[in-house]
Amino acid sequence: MKITDIRLKQCVLRKEDPNWRFALGANPTTEGVIISIETQDGLTGYGYASATAHMGATRDGLTKTLEDLIPVLKKFDPLAMSAIRVAVNEAVSGNNQAKAAIDNALFDLVAKSMKVPLHSLFGGAIRTEFPVLRILAIKQPKEMAEQAQKLFDEGYRYFKIKVHGEIDLDIARVAAIREQVGDEANLTVDANQAYTPEDAITAITGMAKSRIDLVEQPVAIDDFDGLKRVTDSVRVTIEADESARSIEDVYELVSNRSVDAISLKVPKLGGLWNTLAAAQICKIGNVKYRFGAHVGSRLLNAPAMHLAATLPDIWYASEFGEFERLLDDPFEGIGVEDGVIRLPNAIGAGIEPVNL
Ligand SMILES: [Mg+2]
Repeated sequence: MKITDIRLKQCVLRKEDPNWRFALGANPTTEGVIISIETQDGLTGYGYASATAHMGATRDGLTKTLEDLIPVLKKFDPLAMSAIRVAVNEAVSGNNQAKAAIDNALFDLVAKSMKVPLHSLFGGAIRTEFPVLRILAIKQPKEMAEQAQKLFDEGYRYFKIKVHGEIDLDIARVAAIREQVGDEANLTVDANQAYTPEDAITAITGMAKSRIDLVEQPVAIDDFDGLKRVTDSVRVTIEADESARSIEDVYELVSNRSVDAISLKVPKLGGLWNTLAAAQICKIGNVKYRFGAHVGSRLLNAPAMHLAATLPDIWYASEFGEFERLLDDPFEGIGVEDGVIRLPNAIGAGIEPVNL
């Protein structure tokens, strides 16, 4: 195969709720960059680079990095994914979000060229459905409980409660949601680094009275010792998200048993290939893993789902449905029904542009 053209397009999706907020910021839009890799056979592979400022990736920075990598990509047959990976890593260090977009576009393209679904390139799906965990943005307890009820009525049974580091108010948030949605709901908490280790232990002990299954990233991104202290001090499963920002971080967190679980995200890990390796590191080290929020277009979620469909050990609901709260998505092919998302039954990633 020969690459004939590579195009980039910046993508800004409005949030249905412009006041959506988490502990690290508030922004009425979600941003990214779409890469389209075209071949002389008329095939196009698509990838989405996720702009996440709190992970060091901005929309303009991603665009510049991808522009710099286009001449590197054009030297190769897209089937040579291993050689491309080496060349891209030699050309630019870090920049995992940009590399993930290239990786996803190539997997989509190669699967299309072989006329198989993307999951076939990882050995084939062993599941085709995923329960979806949905995020509740930081608001007053009553408003968060109302939003949880709305999602519960739509069929969702897994929720992630965003908290802000105010111990009593955060415990009240969790209690209000539990009281509203009852025992059938599965509740998790994400502090996005908002606590000191001591405050995290106090807060989580208080929240545990409302039965929570998981607390994500209670302390600062670089505080691996603090993460371990919290993990060793509470009975609730503690999960690393921001701290697991590369495959090297995953290895360190697993080796030291700093956490009970890791949130895998294709953008921060640099693509499907690295995400598979991270999952295997977790498995070997007896640390649980699942897929965290891929916030952005359906184009960002679908490739992650294809990989997840091949992994037998995902321990809890993943977060493949956050596109449901975003407007203006230029791609279609997946949707959540009754709190469940299904793997697209199509070749490639199964996602195609409707308005690109
Ligand atoms: Mg998180």
